[in-house]
Amino acid sequence: MFSKAFEISLAKSYEYHSYEGSNENASLFSEMVSLRAVGVPTSYIVCSRSFWQNDFYVDRTVLDPRPESELIIDVTKDLLFDGMRVLDLGCGSGCIGLSLYKENSNITLFLADFSKKALSLAKKNAEELKADCEFIHSDLFSNIHNKFDLIVSNLPYVAKDDFRNLQREIILHEPHEALYGGRSGLRIIKLFLDGVNRYLNKNGIFVIEFGKGQDFLLREEFLRFNFNKVFFYKDLNNVNRVVCVKKDT
Ligand code: GLN
Repeated sequence: MFSKAFEISLAKSYEYHSYEGSNENASLFSEMVSLRAVGVPTSYIVCSRSFWQNDFYVDRTVLDPRPESELIIDVTKDLLFDGMRVLDLGCGSGCIGLSLYKENSNITLFLADFSKKALSLAKKNAEELKADCEFIHSDLFSNIHNKFDLIVSNLPYVAKDDFRNLQREIILHEPHEALYGGRSGLRIIKLFLDGVNRYLNKNGIFVIEFGKGQDFLLREEFLRFNFNKVFFYKDLNNVNRVVCVKKDT
């Protein structure tokens, strides 16, 4: 917050024991501190969050990108090929899809979200990162009319009981519609699984994030939907967090 308010680089801000800025800088800083004191997440105050290799513009219209979602990039970055059609469904800030684009700018990227505000924020990030991509306003697959080689998604998955126990600042400031996944947490993910096959090309893959302990329920869903090529990946806390599923053709 200090470096943002005083308009100096983060690295530079560590060099100072004391720093004299303008009154404007100082009052902006104290305003930021007051917001933080009432629990506004730092990323929303400075409107920025680092994710994978880049900084993304964020505000309270989108989920504050989490480090565990970087696992999606980790497991997909080596699968990208020139011309690959990639969809980030429920893109929020666009951090997942745009990070993939920065890994290979020859993919054909589509960013979709049901929130128009999120989409315009994702557009801003795409412009900032000079990413050439398309934006689709869509509630899950409702407005998707094409097929893809890769679909990545971090849908809402927080279960009812867990939601009550989230940090107060998450509940107060982050968009609930990007977090809450109904009683089991899997309400939206199940709707996604119900449709996804129709939107995958032959040999297509989807990679989604899910909540701690939901892998058992998900395995049942994969059986139900006849997905057999299923690979789970653990996050840094050693819990299954992301799953990669290959279309059976
Ligand atoms: N990882 C987020 C949290 O636990 C949830 C993200 C999501 O629902 N997709 O706060």
